[in-house]
Amino acid sequence: TLSAHDVSAWFGTHKVLERVNLTMAAGEVTALIGPSGCGKSTFLRILNRMHELVPSASLAGEVRLDETDIYEPGRRITDTRKRIGMVFQKPNPFPAMTIAENVLAGLKLTGTKVSRGGRVDLVEECLTRASLWHEVKDRLREPGGALSGGQQQRLCIARSLAVRPDVLLMDEPCSALDPTSTRRVEETIHLLRSEVTIVIVTHNMQQAARVSQQCAFFLAEQGTPGQIVESGPTDEIFDSPSDERTNDYVNGRF
Ligand code: ATP
Ligand code: MG
Repeated sequence: TLSAHDVSAWFGTHKVLERVNLTMAAGEVTALIGPSGCGKSTFLRILNRMHELVPSASLAGEVRLDETDIYEPGRRITDTRKRIGMVFQKPNPFPAMTIAENVLAGLKLTGTKVSRGGRVDLVEECLTRASLWHEVKDRLREPGGALSGGQQQRLCIARSLAVRPDVLLMDEPCSALDPTSTRRVEETIHLLRSEVTIVIVTHNMQQAARVSQQCAFFLAEQGTPGQIVESGPTDEIFDSPSDERTNDYVNGRF
């Protein structure tokens, strides 16, 4: 379980998030929804310290993975990244590396040691969990760049899974994909849900309704920082939201 407590964020002096509180439970998919610029990606990046790559970014509040504070002084960033993986809007496999090497690439970055036989098994396991194995099992030595966009995105998911993360963060993982590839990624999300805590940003309300059990609606009104207007079980957010603005947003009136 991953939880954010009173998280506020700034780029320089520009405040972009205001006191965000959200618990993302193990075994559930949480969808982050809301208009462009309301801070969804910023919040997602804060959840695995990716926002630290932007030098002007600063933060208040706490992020806990189970009972540990991921921002605790002295905690190594690689320990956090190993446990909290991320998949982006644009599939980003290493194009010149083979498919198998792509799956294993995360192990090098985090310094995880696996035997040769273990690596062969891990490639099959992760590609299977990412619903890609049957399409690529005879192509493992081809470059990652030779795959279609939808296959590349599932390869990126397989790469994230190789380090056995507890959490997978996905920022609009399907917005560059065609409908068939989108379905495959959604199937993968369904399969992974019981093992990995998943947080997904999406602009597609049907997708949020299909894949998530919990939904959080973010909004930044007239120059104010992004806030969560409301969060709760996905069916409540869609069928009986408590805030008029949520109702308008999920029904496309925004
Ligand atoms: P979208 O739906 O368009 O992806 P979003 O909800 O993901 O939007 P963010 O990308 O988190 O929104 O942006 C939130 C705010 O933070 C915006 O005002 C944006 O301009 C600002 N912002 C984001 N990244 C940076 C950055 N690297 N430097 C400065 N400001 C930034
Ligand atoms: Mg975004």
